[in-house]
Amino acid sequence: MSSPNLTPAPAGLARAILVGVDVGGSAAFDPTLDELALLAVSAGDMPVARVIARRKAPDPALFVGSGKADEIKALVEGHQAEAVLFDQALSPAQQRNLERHLGVAVADRTMLILEIFAARAQSHEGKLQVELAQLQYLSTRLVRRWSHLERQRGGIGARGGPGEAQIELDRRMIGERIKSVKHRLEKVKRQRGTQRRSRERNQTFRVSLVGYTNAGKSTLFNALVKARSYAADQLFATLDTTTRQFYLEDVGRSVSLSDTVGFIRDLPHKLVEAFEATLQEASEADLLLHVVDAASPLLAEQMSEVQRVLAEIGAADVPQVLVYNKFDKLEDTQRPRTARDTLELDAGVRVPRVFVSALTGQGLDELRRVIVEAVTGTLAERLNASEPAPSASQSELGGDADTEPHRTGTSHFHSSP
Ligand code: GDP
Ligand code: MG
Repeated sequence: MSSPNLTPAPAGLARAILVGVDVGGSAAFDPTLDELALLAVSAGDMPVARVIARRKAPDPALFVGSGKADEIKALVEGHQAEAVLFDQALSPAQQRNLERHLGVAVADRTMLILEIFAARAQSHEGKLQVELAQLQYLSTRLVRRWSHLERQRGGIGARGGPGEAQIELDRRMIGERIKSVKHRLEKVKRQRGTQRRSRERNQTFRVSLVGYTNAGKSTLFNALVKARSYAADQLFATLDTTTRQFYLEDVGRSVSLSDTVGFIRDLPHKLVEAFEATLQEASEADLLLHVVDAASPLLAEQMSEVQRVLAEIGAADVPQVLVYNKFDKLEDTQRPRTARDTLELDAGVRVPRVFVSALTGQGLDELRRVIVEAVTGTLAERLNASEPAPSASQSELGGDADTEPHRTGTSHFHSSP
């Protein structure tokens, strides 16, 4: 049954088919499936084929239509795949039905994210948080399976018994486990609170890097503090917050800089909740550096997802600087003419924006100057004094880039006065 032109999967990797279903309307949809592919690779899978489906509404049984399901099945066989990964959340029933229909493991985005988080957690607290999120995810699945069985029993007549008892038992055990993990987390959090308070007494100015996953936060962190924080083309390479002192020559003092876990679209709610303590770093910061991948075609969606999560964790009011990273990847025509300008966010709030490349070091001096201004309190003054800013909704890369076509071949990157 082996086909000669199959690329062998490296040891330990599972060949996976990626599926994205555009259900139209409100839900975000990525037609490239690139992010799902990155999630898959980060979870130890090797994507071998991609399938896009369009539906008005998900099929209650299989999520996709039966024709599409057969098409996926043929791909599974043709590629000898061991897993099918969906970019959208599946209900427990859909997942089970699909596994039965396709004959291989089926996972959705949520499960991938949970798997990656579980494999990456390093600190005691991080591990406890992931375990809690996994248990909670599992318990909702059991609860839903339970109600599903109840419905079945109603239709078919007297059945069940042992199955229900087993589920009831599992549920109780999971409940107990959740209680104990929560208890241990509380203890860790109290200890962290003490550490934080001692830092507050030191009156250190705190800067937090936030942003969509893979935007380049860890690379920027390394470039700024010249430390080695783990940067990789994988999602959630760093789960735990890393903090380093960072000396600013211009003001002759140190600030603390924290690298945090990245945000991602449809981050399972339980996980956001579980990582609230970690993310709280951001809400307690004096300044947020919101790092974005300026070269990403999904820039606008990624930015608004980050703003949404920031609001959710109570960090909406912390002063923010937009750091447009990966400047080196931009085409000449996309490049802004100044190293720095201001951008108006949806709420009418004006924020400074700096263009950098964490990889080449371009723009980092300007970014340091912005941080110095934030520390000395001159940043806010400067913002209030500056001219009207381009609005974020008008253009992704600044008003300039859109209204005035640039000549190609010329770099418009130079320092503003
Ligand atoms: P994080 O998830 O936000 O911490 O992102 P990382 O710092 O781990 O970076 C993700 C990927 O983007 C890595 O492969 C980096 O090498 C790459 N990267 C980061 N900054 C830049 C940059 O300025 N230019 C380019 N071309 N790549 C970058
Ligand atoms: Mg990182």
